[in-house]
Amino acid sequence: MRIGGLQKTTLIDYPSEIACIVFLIGCNFRCPFCFSKELVLEDTELFEISDEEFFTFLKKRQGQLDACVICGGEPTLNKELPDFCKRIKDLGFKVKLDTNGSNPEMIKQLVKEKLIDYIAMDVKAPFEKYSIAIGVNFDVNKIKESIEIIKNSGIDYEFRTTIVPQIHTLEDIKEIAKQISPAKKFFVQNFRNDKDLLDNSFKDVVPFSDAELNEVIEEIKQNFEVCYLR
Ligand code: SF4
Repeated sequence: MRIGGLQKTTLIDYPSEIACIVFLIGCNFRCPFCFSKELVLEDTELFEISDEEFFTFLKKRQGQLDACVICGGEPTLNKELPDFCKRIKDLGFKVKLDTNGSNPEMIKQLVKEKLIDYIAMDVKAPFEKYSIAIGVNFDVNKIKESIEIIKNSGIDYEFRTTIVPQIHTLEDIKEIAKQISPAKKFFVQNFRNDKDLLDNSFKDVVPFSDAELNEVIEEIKQNFEVCYLR
């Protein structure tokens, strides 16, 4: 497993749990607004952590942390992901998977083998605009398949979308809501241009105001158990 980073504690990335975050290297998408550039482009300067170092850390945190968030890049590109999740769960931690939804087969396997406890999937855009948001051509049927697997998984989950003017209109939020609903949780996230981005020309893009996003959320939130601007 190619681990490109470790956040030792987070109180906000796993609902109601104290967790760590492990960042895996590599991604098959090129979202221009991505702020995990080093992981996505597999920066040779990236400081890699070995599996053994990571598991030594986890063992030391038994009893202190509840959960581990597996994030990327895109974790499901790693064939060893099921074994990796199993090793984490065998140490007594819950596992949350953050995914772009591009590998429904892997998501299905992880759910079936009970190797994850929570899934957060990015829904990047309305299906017909997907390639604009992700910067590559991709079979959107795989995204649709992942959405259905997650909704029927029986485990806790969320969908989330980062809204970026130049890629999305405010109407697109309604379209995404229509395409994924009914669903449990849908979080709208505002784009931030104050970090190093995969495409730094997006630093000139001015985010929508929170008020504009909240106005749309008011119109769609009845389709979800939980829906707000995060
Ligand atoms: S934001 Fe896009 S490019 Fe960045 S890690 Fe996620 S899916 Fe990959």
